[in-house]
Amino acid sequence: MELSEVKGIGINTIKDLNNLGINNVYDLVTYYPFRYDVFEKTDISKLADGDKIVIDGVVENVPNVFYISRVLNKMTFRLNIGTKILTITIFNRAYFKRNINVGTTLTVIGKYDAKHNSVTASNLKLGLLEKTIIEPVYHTSNKINSKKINKIVNSALPKIKVKDYIPENISNKYHFIDKNRAVYLIHNPENKHSVKQAINRLKYEELFVFMSKISYLKKNHTSNDGLERKVNFKKIEKFINNLPFKLTKDQLASINDIYDDLTSKRRMNRLLQGDVGSGKTIVSFISLYINYLGGYQGALMAPTEILAFQHYQNIKKLFPDLNIVLLTGKTKVKERKEILKQIKKQTADIIIGTHALISDTVEYKNLGLVITDEQHRFGVNQRANLKNKGITPDILYMSATPIPRTYALTLYGDMDISSIKTMPSGRKPVTTILKKDTEIKDVLYMMLDEIKKHHQIYVIAPLVEESEKIDMENVYQLEEKMKKAFGKICNIGILHGKMKADEKEKAMNKFKNNETQILISTTVIEVGVDVANATMMVIFDSYRFGLSALHQLRGRVGRNDLDSYCVLISDRETKRLSVLTKTTDGFKVSEEDFLLRGSGDLFGQRQSGDMSFKLADIKNDYQLLLQAKEDGEKFVTSSDYTNEKNKHIRQMIEQSTNLD
Ligand code: ADP
Ligand code: MG
Repeated sequence: MELSEVKGIGINTIKDLNNLGINNVYDLVTYYPFRYDVFEKTDISKLADGDKIVIDGVVENVPNVFYISRVLNKMTFRLNIGTKILTITIFNRAYFKRNINVGTTLTVIGKYDAKHNSVTASNLKLGLLEKTIIEPVYHTSNKINSKKINKIVNSALPKIKVKDYIPENISNKYHFIDKNRAVYLIHNPENKHSVKQAINRLKYEELFVFMSKISYLKKNHTSNDGLERKVNFKKIEKFINNLPFKLTKDQLASINDIYDDLTSKRRMNRLLQGDVGSGKTIVSFISLYINYLGGYQGALMAPTEILAFQHYQNIKKLFPDLNIVLLTGKTKVKERKEILKQIKKQTADIIIGTHALISDTVEYKNLGLVITDEQHRFGVNQRANLKNKGITPDILYMSATPIPRTYALTLYGDMDISSIKTMPSGRKPVTTILKKDTEIKDVLYMMLDEIKKHHQIYVIAPLVEESEKIDMENVYQLEEKMKKAFGKICNIGILHGKMKADEKEKAMNKFKNNETQILISTTVIEVGVDVANATMMVIFDSYRFGLSALHQLRGRVGRNDLDSYCVLISDRETKRLSVLTKTTDGFKVSEEDFLLRGSGDLFGQRQSGDMSFKLADIKNDYQLLLQAKEDGEKFVTSSDYTNEKNKHIRQMIEQSTNLD
């Protein structure tokens, strides 16, 4: 239903509503208040100085108004509250004076000053406080306030009947109130209890639909439509035994999980989780090898060109006999044509690339396995893209962002998970140090020490997410400074997002080959990059980063048995950053990040959309979520699911989902 059909909304109001993301009547009635103002008479005998107060009484005198400046006025009067008389002061309400006379009854909301027996009021309401007042507060713009939103919602409410997505038996089980009643109450709370009931009912529904979606997906993923490869494990073993290092127990277990998936009828939908530096890459390479031996083409997708290029170089070394190609958005036209041809004919065995791999122009032949590295960096829709292309290969996601249990359950609830919990042997934890801007000299001396030991250093320039250009300028500025300090004793390279693909490759290779000893970079190196001789990282303005991002960055060093250091330079937020000086455990870091910044930021902007409920919060409503999960699992496998009366619920659950 269109907004224009609601009585009393003009074109301008519609525009204002659109700006708040409200585009139709459904959006409008589900534009829920984010909190309530509760006005409950306070017992003044129990108040302490500075407490919030809501009190009513009778005005004793005609208010005095003082005009302090053009923009500031002050009104004072005395209010008799029965037990005593208070002096009330309120700013910028001179216009309200005409409503107040001796004997007027008023409700006053404000702050109590015990010593002066006075109240600095933030709000005045005519009349006594009969019962508790609960006022919904909405997210507003400067064009439209909470009162107006509430008024418009209420003129729309009688016109619309919202659909109920909780099956009847579940609704009965929890004695939920009717959905339309709940929507009414959330905008028009009658008392605390009823608004709680309404919110609970609506939250549960959000969680129920979401968890049912996951159960539905899981049910489908585990169907027997996978590719049943025949691969002799002896060949894999032989390859593993020829590696220059011994795989860890968890790496081997993960490889076993994947081997089982790829050789069974089940379609694989697996997450390989492991902290930075735990050695996920080699597991992915071996997975591609298993897939190849099974007769299929395989693809590995990385979030940045630099990382794709690095994987490409490494995997070619490991499998010199296979035809492995690299495809990124920056691959030159002529080369690209040839590569596309090879992919289409399956003369390319393995394709490494960026998200260009799933662009419309790439046609695969016999694509059996797709691996996404640093999965949390990808927009979720890119995953759906493959499905749109009509290919349903086995899927392996890799992620270094350790996920608190709550999130694993929701975001990855439909997947099987293999975890690499232990680091390759011989690794030492990175020593992490906080420094102030003024302590830069200390940092330069530390750098000098490392350079003297013939080690290499990453320097991370301040991050300005909005502008690649400013990021780039920051890199050049730092280059100047570093040249002054170290230009005579070592070579300095730079790397930033605005460089061309081949320039980036060159810069990366120079660092890898130790032709440059200091690499100044933006966060383009945040993920995956692997240069074992780099033992130090210096991060400028580190307060600009989330803890998880810093942990990822730090993961670039400490990749061998040398002592390594991460210096966080910041004048601000040192308490938050100090978490990193205390632990190198990614799980702890992400839990902390999660406590400090809430759910939305954990996976970065892009993925927060997956879990953006209107009311529910997967952390605060975790118990409700667990309930919804259990109910959802039961529901999608029950006969109730296909019952005609639940058709709309089924449609909602099966509707194209971000988790595809
Ligand atoms: P991540 O899990 O962060 O992607 P990588 O796969 O990049 O980590 O591995 C980090 C480094 O550890 C690489 O240089 C890799 O060759 C090395 N590595 C991986 N597995 C082992 C192992 N079992 N023993 C020693 N080094 C290993
Ligand atoms: Mg990696």
